[in-house]
Amino acid sequence: MPSPPSPFASTYAQARELFSRTAQAAGGHLTAISHPLPGPTGESLAIDLALLGPDDAHTVVVCLSGVHGAEGFAGSGAQVAWLQHHAGGSLPDGVSMLFVHGVNPWGFAHGLRGTEDNIDINRNWLDHTQPHPQNPLYAEIHPHLCPPDMSRASVEKMLMAGGRFVERHGQWALEDAISRGQYTHPDGYHFGGTSLAWSTRELQKVVRERLATARRVAYVDFHSGPVGNGETIFLCFSDEESVSRTRAAQWWGEDALAAQTVEKQWGSQRPTRSGIVFWGLEKMLEGQADVAGAVVEFCSARARSEARYIMRIPMLERWLRFVGGLDAPEAPGYLMEIRDTYAPRRADWERRVAAGAIDVLDKTLAGAAAWAHES
Ligand SMILES: [Zn+2]
Repeated sequence: MPSPPSPFASTYAQARELFSRTAQAAGGHLTAISHPLPGPTGESLAIDLALLGPDDAHTVVVCLSGVHGAEGFAGSGAQVAWLQHHAGGSLPDGVSMLFVHGVNPWGFAHGLRGTEDNIDINRNWLDHTQPHPQNPLYAEIHPHLCPPDMSRASVEKMLMAGGRFVERHGQWALEDAISRGQYTHPDGYHFGGTSLAWSTRELQKVVRERLATARRVAYVDFHSGPVGNGETIFLCFSDEESVSRTRAAQWWGEDALAAQTVEKQWGSQRPTRSGIVFWGLEKMLEGQADVAGAVVEFCSARARSEARYIMRIPMLERWLRFVGGLDAPEAPGYLMEIRDTYAPRRADWERRVAAGAIDVLDKTLAGAAAWAHES
């Protein structure tokens, strides 16, 4: 039997095609939610759904990719790797799997992390009619993170300002202010939006329409970007003492979820968060279904010791969006750097991510099977 093609794609259109073909071969039922905008080469954009198993199962494994657009190259490869591995197999009784491919298809196709509105989907799932979570320190650092160009002089200036901020508030406060989510600067970093993004609205519809009979939801949301070579980091957003947290630890091991492990892998104490998809899903399904699971990060970025590379990748994205434009002469090089950070085209990295994805989803499915039989 010929070996299956590499699960990793070069372009968004290829990723979609590969996902659809593989999901179909694995017995999946496919549907697509069309995005209103075209991709960079005129290709159509969509969130693709593949359901394996019955559409009225009480226990559903929900697996997402591309919540952060460009990270979809890793997440799509991870989904396809498991689907190739599963082809011909069957699911445990009472369990179905819903794959959601390319949650932020505009960002995925353009090779950027945010949406068409520069929104971070994993900070956007909130009731926007209510006052937004505060992030008062963000306004202080924002102007320094928005240089007019990416020259060494501009970056040095940013680092000086960052140093002064750290003297005043500490190192963790800097990371936290930048990444926890902010709702005041639409041209800034980790902007959570002031209304629901297209992707969040469509995800909510998916929950309403496709998880209507679910009583137990196992959540696996594939991301990439931390420093490393294909290792997995589990970011669990359930309360430490909760049943959901205990359940996730049963699936993936207490050690993998322990704060000590995660902080060592992540490189610092985890920042605060607001508006994340996991909490949104949990809240939406409150009283109907229990939700357990995690964001699973695949390490993908090269370690760089020089301070001037800190923030380089998010700054490149911001520069492309708000300063130079996606048709600037620098754009192809910058986009290649961003791509290389989230999903490097290296066989050893792709092998590790594929193996990690199969391990994570096999364990989740085994956990879901046991969960389905709990009374
Ligand atoms: Zn991410």
